[in-house]
Amino acid sequence: MMSDTEYHRPLGIGESAFEGLEEHLEDRSYEGREYRHVPDYRRGIERGTVLIDREVVRGFPKVPRALVLETGIPTQFEDRVVVEEKLNGYNVRVVCLEGERLAFTRSGMVCPFTTRIIERLVDLEALFDDHPGAMVCGEMIGPENPYTAHDYPEVDSLAFRAFDWRDRQSGEPLAVEARRERYDRYGVPQTRLFGSYDVDEAADEVLRIVEDLEAENREGVVMRSPDATTLLKYTTSASTRSDLAYAFSLPFDYGQPFMFRRLLREGFRTIEVDGSDDIARKRAHELGEAILLSMREAIDTVGDGGTVGERHTVRASSETVEALLEHLRKQGLTLEIESDRREDGDRVLTFCKRVQSSNDKIENYLEGHVVTE
Ligand code: ATP
Ligand code: MG
Repeated sequence: MMSDTEYHRPLGIGESAFEGLEEHLEDRSYEGREYRHVPDYRRGIERGTVLIDREVVRGFPKVPRALVLETGIPTQFEDRVVVEEKLNGYNVRVVCLEGERLAFTRSGMVCPFTTRIIERLVDLEALFDDHPGAMVCGEMIGPENPYTAHDYPEVDSLAFRAFDWRDRQSGEPLAVEARRERYDRYGVPQTRLFGSYDVDEAADEVLRIVEDLEAENREGVVMRSPDATTLLKYTTSASTRSDLAYAFSLPFDYGQPFMFRRLLREGFRTIEVDGSDDIARKRAHELGEAILLSMREAIDTVGDGGTVGERHTVRASSETVEALLEHLRKQGLTLEIESDRREDGDRVLTFCKRVQSSNDKIENYLEGHVVTE
């Protein structure tokens, strides 16, 4: 077994820096394999970085966001800007360790569900045979998944879309063109490419692209420098509204900063995008509805004796579903199974992750508890 401090080398940090990092590592195991990961943001080391089997699996970097495209884009890019679609699902990194493909979610946990289901969705065998140190980064999208469900007309249940190819240890990305070519060659589905634009015209192009995405209720774009080392995201108003609606449907479980950040996005967006007062007023109305109507529904539900929570449906083999339930329960989540049936040899399970505060507080306030603020 590699002594602990030897991990500092592949991580590219000093021995004492590693000792400082160690106390922030979370210990986990997956099918008898011990590993450690960085569950939250740390200076110098990406969140989601994993130490496993003497190897480092680098976390996916945090992607900065532009609030105003016209001025934001030129601060990040010098020359060309490649624009691809930002998909709304959950982040996955797939690597091959000791002959086994493992899928890690954002914070660096092996997800037993994704590790199994990815095998059905994409054939990565040839890719890892040729490039054993690759880290396949992408988004799992579609309505049937345990983390972030969003409907895409092209996805019935669940699908994978690659958006980066990185070196597993260093996190270095392949340039966009090379990455798109390689994934094409291995038959791996990728996120949509809109085009590559000169930095001076990029803001207008992105505004035009985002307008179309808006109409289709899609999330937004991620811009990259051609070498894929600089990333910048921008999202639609539709996506912000649906985030807010979701957050206000569990109003005491989502952090208030989550909500406030989204309100700010809308503030800046309306200045850059909504030309007239009339359009701004229409936006204000939609924003208000997203907040108020979802909160109203949640209060109503609890008032009627029901509970609110995060509902998800998954479709997979029975073994995969069991592994998922065990994984989620091990993290301390309380799950209520709402339906469990068989369909075409798969198990289709709908469950609800119980949230505590929203249920309790809504009930208390409905019963007349007063607030002193
Ligand atoms: P975090 O940055 O910690 O992942 P977040 O909530 O800020 O959390 P998002 O706002 O969803 O994340 O934006 C970043 C995420 O977008 C990436 O982690 C990735 O999972 C996802 N994503 C979807 N499409 C793309 C794409 N084309 N390029 C890069 N990331 C993408
Ligand atoms: Mg996301």
